[in-house]
Amino acid sequence: MNLNNSPVTQHHFQGYDFHLKRDDLLHSHFNGNKARKFADLLGSELPGITQLIGWGSAQANSLTSLAALAKIKQLKLTYFVDHKPDWLDEHPTGNYRAAKELGAEIISLKQQLGSNAPHPRDYISANYAHSTDCYVVPEGGRFQSARKGIIELAEEILSWSRFEKGKPIKVALPSGTGTTALFLSQILMPKNIEVLTCPCVGGKQYLKQQFDELGHFSYYPTILELENKHHFGKLYLQDYEIWQQLQDETDIEFDLLYDPMMWRCLLPWLDTNPDVSLLYIHQGGLLGNETMLPRYRRKYDADKNQWQPKVD
Ligand SMILES: *Cc1c(COP(=O)(O)O)cnc(C)c1O
Repeated sequence: MNLNNSPVTQHHFQGYDFHLKRDDLLHSHFNGNKARKFADLLGSELPGITQLIGWGSAQANSLTSLAALAKIKQLKLTYFVDHKPDWLDEHPTGNYRAAKELGAEIISLKQQLGSNAPHPRDYISANYAHSTDCYVVPEGGRFQSARKGIIELAEEILSWSRFEKGKPIKVALPSGTGTTALFLSQILMPKNIEVLTCPCVGGKQYLKQQFDELGHFSYYPTILELENKHHFGKLYLQDYEIWQQLQDETDIEFDLLYDPMMWRCLLPWLDTNPDVSLLYIHQGGLLGNETMLPRYRRKYDADKNQWQPKVD
């Protein structure tokens, strides 16, 4: 299984050249930054462990990665979600579908315990924290164990950078928990490679809070932001448009949840910092597009057909 040393490809977008670190190509079900974050877990012995316990959204990329990891290691994955929409079991799509196919057990606490159900995190710490045959993975892979695989990614970037002489190198990647950007920064920033990120979940303050929960650090990524508030998982026409433009100009499919915001932050940043060599990290997540794309199409493509004034 080739779970490291992803290729770097070269592209052009909106007048800018950039390099792309193809972590989307690491593995069909175990790719992107989740493959990096769970690489340590994948390589560990885990004596006595028979079950992985996870939690998060029913559409999270980490759900599929954990399900694939459990399958590879012959463990059972039980994954708790706060709630899941009714239609999901009738029409499973994206990460939910893939995880089910990989044998994951996905439990909605609201469905099982009613509307007063505890948050999955609290439920798990009350029921599994002391269990010796379960290994609990925090939401989105925000844990110290993520560090090892991210250091490996950083080292691949450093190897690549030795052939990239001249302009200062900037590495860009959008953040959810910020774990990947933060751990990357510890290796890259001392080598004069600035890490740029944007907060896709919550704002800048929330992202910094998430950094602090991982510990105290000497280096932090530079956080770029949009002018307006942006809600995770909500549909924005500008996100859909930039995603389509990316696909048109690079022939590469980007993820619809995180990448559009990063590119919307990056383009104005590049306008004022044109003399850089940009390495964008493709963090996978394309299974999520199976859910996001129909939502976008229903919202915007249908609208367009119906409402666009006819120009003859
Ligand atoms: C999980 C994920 C992120 C966010 O990663 P963090 O380390 O939590 O910041 C970004 N992009 C994709 C595609 C992801 O799956």
